Amino acid sequence: MADTNLMQIPGHIDPVPVPRDVTPREDGRVDLLGLPRPRIAELFAEAGLDAKAAKLRAKQVFHWLYHRGVTEFEAMTDIAKTMRPWLEQRFVIGRPEIVLAQHSSDGTRKWLLRTADGHEFEMVFIPDADRGTLCVSSQVGCTLNCRFCHTGTMRLVRNLTPGEIVGQVMLARDSLGEWPKGAGDMRLATMAGLDDEEDEGSYSSDGRLLTNIVMMGMGEPLYNFDNVRDALKLVMDGDGLALSKRRITLSTSGVVPMMARCGEEIGVNLAVSLHAVSKDVRDEIVPINRKFGIEELLQACADYPGASNARRITFEYVMLKDKNDSDEDARELVRLIKQYKLPAKVNLIPFNPWPGAIYECSAPERIRRFSEIVFEAGISAPVRTPRGRDIDAACGQLKTAAQKMSRAELDRLADEKQAALG
Ligand code: SAH
Ligand code: SF4
Repeated sequence: MADTNLMQIPGHIDPVPVPRDVTPREDGRVDLLGLPRPRIAELFAEAGLDAKAAKLRAKQVFHWLYHRGVTEFEAMTDIAKTMRPWLEQRFVIGRPEIVLAQHSSDGTRKWLLRTADGHEFEMVFIPDADRGTLCVSSQVGCTLNCRFCHTGTMRLVRNLTPGEIVGQVMLARDSLGEWPKGAGDMRLATMAGLDDEEDEGSYSSDGRLLTNIVMMGMGEPLYNFDNVRDALKLVMDGDGLALSKRRITLSTSGVVPMMARCGEEIGVNLAVSLHAVSKDVRDEIVPINRKFGIEELLQACADYPGASNARRITFEYVMLKDKNDSDEDARELVRLIKQYKLPAKVNLIPFNPWPGAIYECSAPERIRRFSEIVFEAGISAPVRTPRGRDIDAACGQLKTAAQKMSRAELDRLADEKQAALG
């Protein structure tokens, strides 16, 4: 694992718990999901195929994985019948396991997922009129402990692998029924050799429910940089899931040293969990501020590769009653954005309470006034409508709720999950 997965942060949030390694599968098979295509070819060669065949098979398998969403080698109809069991014995195509699937009355869907080695994490899908956004997790738990965030009360268990991160998007497509059916297999079946033109895929992206991805689930994506980058590369790859980087947003609590690399190596939109405009308040509610202060953070935003008026940086601001929601706070927010000449928009997030939280959400009137002040300064500051409140959609809540449920309740919900998927 690269060093970036385990950066040390001295100070208040020490000691950084050392995340566990992934426990290898008991059957010894290798999961192909999340691996770059050349690595798949390498594995096929190591398992005994000659170089040319390994490359061709990798291309075919990659296509089946990301364009067709298949999870069984048996379904890969352009691969020789005798070859399929050979693959089956050595490899798997993983998906996170679904522990619970919930469907809110407002259309929001939420899943509690489990890794192959038994760790639970969450994923949320939020449909809107013009888009469908999948909120993806990067870690099981989080090393940071933002005071208003429920995930912040959990220890970091481990980083999610690229396969587990891209696997969330695949699983959402499974559940939303968004893999193409029918034609497509025949085209690959006619592939003659290694130098074919790239296959264009057999579906168009029109009419999809899942159009956008936000790395805003559990965990701090910039503390799992390599895996998040590798996963998002597969999501953006034209031969992979082929989603435009303009439709992907990574949210960070402010891991300043990794922000430039995020812009350079991933190139997605950036969201920053600012939440406060003074050192005292931000130190309290987003403790990583004690390590990387507001000035440093805003300078890193000003330097973020690719940020422009057409691709603004989103500043997330959770509205906490009597904590960060005054008119002065709003004016200071505007001043800071102007001082650093940031191409910015502000997302005002009503605090989503959870049992044991020490904060309350600001009153609607207070949020509206805060928003007006920022808007009047020429900066967009919409209030995000809370979604999925009837299904504990606040980050980290479902995991805890499930831990409190009895075995019988969990079994009943597990039975219902099939229905929810249908
Ligand atoms: N760790 C990253 C991304 C995950 S959190 C980050 O902190 O940016 C995604 C967003 O949800 C962050 O802006 C976070 O501050 C916010 N959030 C967390 N808990 C919340 C709650 N209970 N109510 C409202 N927003 C919350
Ligand atoms: Fe971690 Fe983000 Fe929650 Fe902070 S807000 S504890 S960084 S998940």
